[in-house]
Amino acid sequence: MRGVVQGVGFRPFVWRLARSHGIAGWVLNTGDGVEIHVEGDPRTLDAFATALEREAPVAARVDRIDASAVLPHAPAAFEIRHSAGAARPTAGISPDLAVCDACLRELRDPADRRFGYPCINCTECGPRYSIMLGLPYDRPRTTMHEWPMCSECAAEYANPADRRFHAQPVACPRCGPGYVLRGIAGSDAGDPVAAAAALLRGGRILAVKGLGGYHLACDGSNAAAVEALRTRKFRKERPFALLARDLPTAKRLVRLERGAEAVLTGVARPIVLAPALIELPGVAPDSDELGVMLPSTPLHHLLFDAGAPPVLVLTSGNRSGEPIAFEDSDAAARLTGIADAFLVGDRPIARRMDDSVVRPPVVLRRARGLAPGVVARIPTARPLLGVGADLKNAVVLVVGGEAVASQHIGDLDHALAREAFATAIDDLLEMYDVDRSALMVAHDAHPGYVSSAYGLDLPAAAHHAVQHHRAHVASVLAEQGMLDEPVIGIALDGTGWGDDGTIWGCELFTGSVAGGLVRAAHLLPAVLPGGDAAARWPVQAAAGFLAQTDTAPAAGEAPFELPERYARAAELVTKDVRCFPTTSAGRLFDTAAALLGFTREITYEGQAAVWLEHLAHAGGPAEPYPMPYAAGVLDYRPLLAALLADRRAGRDRGTVARAFHGGLAAGLAAAVLALHHGTGIATVVLSGGVFQNELLSRELRTRLAPAGLRIWSNRAVPPNDGGIALGQVALAAFAV
Ligand SMILES: [Zn+2]
Ligand SMILES: [Zn+2]
Ligand SMILES: [Zn+2]
Repeated sequence: MRGVVQGVGFRPFVWRLARSHGIAGWVLNTGDGVEIHVEGDPRTLDAFATALEREAPVAARVDRIDASAVLPHAPAAFEIRHSAGAARPTAGISPDLAVCDACLRELRDPADRRFGYPCINCTECGPRYSIMLGLPYDRPRTTMHEWPMCSECAAEYANPADRRFHAQPVACPRCGPGYVLRGIAGSDAGDPVAAAAALLRGGRILAVKGLGGYHLACDGSNAAAVEALRTRKFRKERPFALLARDLPTAKRLVRLERGAEAVLTGVARPIVLAPALIELPGVAPDSDELGVMLPSTPLHHLLFDAGAPPVLVLTSGNRSGEPIAFEDSDAAARLTGIADAFLVGDRPIARRMDDSVVRPPVVLRRARGLAPGVVARIPTARPLLGVGADLKNAVVLVVGGEAVASQHIGDLDHALAREAFATAIDDLLEMYDVDRSALMVAHDAHPGYVSSAYGLDLPAAAHHAVQHHRAHVASVLAEQGMLDEPVIGIALDGTGWGDDGTIWGCELFTGSVAGGLVRAAHLLPAVLPGGDAAARWPVQAAAGFLAQTDTAPAAGEAPFELPERYARAAELVTKDVRCFPTTSAGRLFDTAAALLGFTREITYEGQAAVWLEHLAHAGGPAEPYPMPYAAGVLDYRPLLAALLADRRAGRDRGTVARAFHGGLAAGLAAAVLALHHGTGIATVVLSGGVFQNELLSRELRTRLAPAGLRIWSNRAVPPNDGGIALGQVALAAFAV
């Protein structure tokens, strides 16, 4: 059996199942999965095989069962055998798993020896990748090696009939790690969890060590506490995630649609983005959504049982822009001054792991509970490594034809993130025992990217540069397993290095991953005055785009009130100083946002577009602005002219924002239909960070629906640059 079948209680499950069917034989872990030898009458064996798939442990994922007849050995009973010699390990590495119901019952049972024990776990739940130091996955190669098991734990560990048979992190209050509360005088006496819950009730900010790093927590309903957390973390506007005590509490916060409840309650326990039902001051400014998760660790449950407020802000333990802290000394250094107290677990974390983020059914960030994970199959025997891009970095390793995605690493402009990036690559190459003499490394074509430079320096048989937007499109096709499929691919994002050395970001391609993707259409080029700063200041992007129109407003002109920075940028355009050609869709969104009132600096990537979408939701239905398409070029000038005219005429801003979204969707649809008629291609692929905008995606799909085109977008990897690495390896697989 292949798939995620190790470290998830699979062998004991097979043992129990075989015994219940009265079958003799054995089960063992091999380098690439689990091998089962069974002997019995055919009908019993069939029933056993059916149950193997149907009743597999919740955290297991069976990808394939290969069955064949072998000579009988006439074993006396069914047993778990020791692993065969280490073949190359390609068995799936299990992500961390949310605490299971059986462990939760013990956690709350005063008669159980693990009553109230925050590190309770079993073969079906608990930490995995976040404690793993190497493969094969067993206790000496985890961060639990420092805690010798007591006799009771050792007996459970050795008993195939026990829920904790070979549960590598097994522990109890007698022999295992625990938690302490630090930082507030007198609070270290007594129960640290009860004291921590009391601090949260009192409006204090707590650093809590989780599975993959430190979180910062405070009462989500306490506006003063939320405000204090923002100030201390230097996180001005980016939304905070919430931890809800239970499902009913979560349902009071957000409206759960389209299978969102199953995602929220699943073993991965990601942050689920869903429409907000209530407003919590300071939690998610300028957004219609809230990010909510349910308790994933025993500690979360214990905090709520001890009376913590039912809705907590739970955000990564860092200052704005830095990676999450996961080592105790680092957390103490970086979070002092932010947290009032620290709830610290003894068990070391092997690697940093953020929370995953899902807007069902789209994964926006793959991390805790989802990583590492197989996201696609690429038909190649050669090992391939995709090192991703510099923003929202994640890497992908293809080994044995399976594309394994790493956890979200973050923006590589930070030294700690660069360290994590190098570690993630080493981890995957070592754990899968990759033969470097055959390895091909795929990297972004941007010569200035940290990830490109690192990829080029990696010892490998070959290196291959992949254009950014083609990688976005290819990521969808890799997920779909459709590498030969001819498509019209649309990639919309903020920034990516184009074939001609300019900044691309609104690109349409035709072709396939296997045969190559040809740039077939793009946005009319504008310029970006001032380089990188233009991505942080929407008014600066506006100066570059509006310079292409005849009706650009002057600085300070009502109702736009564009600041002096806009005038200075416009001057750069006039003089053609430090201006860079671009076809970026992200900057077109910034331009519209600036004209509708977002004239300040953004504090996180994509903020102006999020703000604009929020504004559009408040507006009524509107006739889309014109955005004509001809001869491979989408012309935004009539669209901006109409927007300026409506603003000058005092039209409602929400309606203007709506007409902008509609206009862009209509323009893209016209381009797609023209390409469809020209080529006969009837499959459309949407990718790139801009497609996180739901209004735009919906409007575009609505416009393409009557033509009967198939439309695919990302599910398993993010449409933003977190999905780039998958596209890189897919395209590299076909490079000569
Ligand atoms: Zn469990
Ligand atoms: Zn013990
Ligand atoms: Zn991108």
